[in-house]
Amino acid sequence: MIVNPVPWPNGAKVACAITFDMDADSLVHIEHPKDSIKRVSTISMLRYGPQVGVPRILEAYRRYGIKQTFFVPAWCIEQYPGAIEGMINDGHEVGFHGYIHEAPNSLSKADEHYWMQRSIDTIVKHTGKRPRGNRSPLYNFSDNTADLLVKEGFLYDSSLMGDDVPYILKTKMGELVEVPTSWATDDWPPYVHSIDLNYVMQVMSPERAMEGFLAEFEAMRRAGGGLWIGIWHPFVSGRLSRWLRVEAMIEYMLGTNEVWFATLEDIARHILKCRENGTYKPRVDQLPYYDKPVAPKRTASPKKRRG
Ligand SMILES: [Zn+2]
Repeated sequence: MIVNPVPWPNGAKVACAITFDMDADSLVHIEHPKDSIKRVSTISMLRYGPQVGVPRILEAYRRYGIKQTFFVPAWCIEQYPGAIEGMINDGHEVGFHGYIHEAPNSLSKADEHYWMQRSIDTIVKHTGKRPRGNRSPLYNFSDNTADLLVKEGFLYDSSLMGDDVPYILKTKMGELVEVPTSWATDDWPPYVHSIDLNYVMQVMSPERAMEGFLAEFEAMRRAGGGLWIGIWHPFVSGRLSRWLRVEAMIEYMLGTNEVWFATLEDIARHILKCRENGTYKPRVDQLPYYDKPVAPKRTASPKKRRG
């Protein structure tokens, strides 16, 4: 069971959102700032996202009549404006995902804010509106991120992992809806293998990856009132064999007549609407979780063995 199931629109049992983080080659430039341009094969692997993956994904979304959310680093918007134009023309949502996939929790508060504002300007220029949602690159949400998002007027975040259903993040500055993610439905662990990105794993078959993704879906469907969210990448899940399996998954989900496919913005707005009309009381998480280091300074850590 789910402790606090959400009453989704039209009695749907699961809210479904495939979110694509279109990182393109930002990943290799941030990982290897000194010599990324010499890593041509990896750049090409990542450019597959905007150039081949996104058009394929958009075509399928048109066929199924669904609107979804893309998170795109601002640098990628500047590099691949055609991919963004396709998303906007088809009515999809474009959210904030860093400037060039930098980790917010490695930056000072001032720097994090600078890159956030600069990225918002880029998003406004290319999409005509301010982003409503954030996904921190690699889930690297910092202890300042929530406050900065509130300050910049964001509606929701989708980087944390604290529940099966959306909940409220409360800070001294205000609040956000959290539309939570999970590594269980992220396409990185089953599919990505890249020495340049320091991620070396055995690549799974689409069937095996989908087994894990669908296990999450079936559990949410059985419980009722849950959220299923894919955290995927166009250069990864947009490859043909994987994408064909995704299309079968979308058809299966739609065929249950028990799902609501929506953008994260619509999901977040639904939560606030239900709270307002009294049909749902979302759980509240107060941030920051901690304001100083937790482990005592003189805690004995396990001694390293010699030899
Ligand atoms: Zn990313």
